[in-house]
Amino acid sequence: MAFDSLSDKLQNIFKNLRGKGRLSESDVKAALREVKMALLEADVNFKVVKQFVKSVEERAIGQDVMESLTPGQMVIKIVNEEMIKLMGSETTEIALKSGSEITVIMMAGLQGAGKTTTTAKLAGKFKAQGRKPLLVACDVYRPAAVEQLKINGEKQGVPVFAMGTNQNPVDIAKAGIEHAKSNGNNIVILDTAGRLHVDEDMMTELQNIKSSVGVDQTILVVDSMTGQDAVNVASSFDEKIGIDGVILTKLDGDTRGGAALSIKAVTGKPILYAGMGEKLSDLEQFHPDRMASRILGMGDVLSLIEKAEAQIDADKAAEMEKKLRKAEFDFNDYLEYMGQIKNMGGLGSIMNMLPGMGFAGKIKTDGVDMDEAEKNLKRTEAIILSMNNAERSRPDILNPSRKNRIARGAGVDISEVNRVVKQFEQMKKMMKQMPGMMKQFGGKKGRF
Ligand code: GDP
Repeated sequence: MAFDSLSDKLQNIFKNLRGKGRLSESDVKAALREVKMALLEADVNFKVVKQFVKSVEERAIGQDVMESLTPGQMVIKIVNEEMIKLMGSETTEIALKSGSEITVIMMAGLQGAGKTTTTAKLAGKFKAQGRKPLLVACDVYRPAAVEQLKINGEKQGVPVFAMGTNQNPVDIAKAGIEHAKSNGNNIVILDTAGRLHVDEDMMTELQNIKSSVGVDQTILVVDSMTGQDAVNVASSFDEKIGIDGVILTKLDGDTRGGAALSIKAVTGKPILYAGMGEKLSDLEQFHPDRMASRILGMGDVLSLIEKAEAQIDADKAAEMEKKLRKAEFDFNDYLEYMGQIKNMGGLGSIMNMLPGMGFAGKIKTDGVDMDEAEKNLKRTEAIILSMNNAERSRPDILNPSRKNRIARGAGVDISEVNRVVKQFEQMKKMMKQMPGMMKQFGGKKGRF
């Protein structure tokens, strides 16, 4: 999982700091030495680490941290702020022209970085924003790339312009842009060819495209799992062709985070998006502040809320909250609630983002198996589906003979049915104690 090992280490260091009533200068220095080691082990660029630790130390020791009521928290706050700065401070949007004017985006990157997949993911994002993207297959170097782009474009409902692999990429790009003009597309995304390593041919090809068709944005796709290599690749591309921003792929599998933490600081170019999985929906806008809080284990509450907002109907959530208040919450609502959890990517992904929950991998080591939890969710669903309407809306009528019938219907033991009923009662109780919870899931920002 993203940043797991770095996150674990930093959280341990901070746990020690938090535990102390007062901090001496040497406490801070010792903690920062450990932070330095953790960052180096995470494959963060050496110079970046040095500068980072220096900035934190200056602020932590210079300020009134030692006098502060909670000095440990103060240090964590400074680390958090410096980490946000390191990753670019602000969220950077891809600059697009307005209206029907065409923005040409050139995607570049090494083979295997995830360029073709990311190109289709990005097109999906633009489409969702009401734009009209056209994908153009300029990767004539890898024959399967054209096909892959076509398939992914179709999945995203985005048109793909291709001319096979026997044409010059510059000609394909030009023809693609003409095609966009006559078909009302206002974004053209050029999928270009990568190579296994940074090489002259590739750079020349990209320079040619860039100088011939008026590229507005050059976006580099790099594999975050390659750590410092990704940073070096970004530097080379920026030197040779000039890039406007970076998309980091495979962050879902990057336990160290070295690329995410160094790229902006080394190249000066912002990280625009992060690839979080193989599915075409797995692309997240890169928010430095949220990333920092993920790394520091504060949980990515904002991302969770945004995800929930996209998936859950706010009216429904409000309605559910009203029911809860009036204690009308029944098994039908419970079923719907579980459906919403599923829509949000399952328990694992939610646990990951909740503060205090740490990451799924960590939860596993603490003894809770997420797979098992997901299975439980499915079993619970099967049990509720085996209930009739009266039982779902009035759980108090569930006597042993009804429970037996439900257990048979769901293919489970009666003890499982008892477990679900108990769980339901607990949840009802918990939710009554937490007014506002459903509304938070349903839409109001900043209420977490
Ligand atoms: P290209 O050669 O750069 O065009 O790379 P592809 O788009 O073909 O991707 C290479 C592999 O990486 C494929 O198996 C993708 O499914 C996978 N991939 C791409 N982005 C991500 C990501 O964000 N997370 C994960 N886990 N896999 C990814």
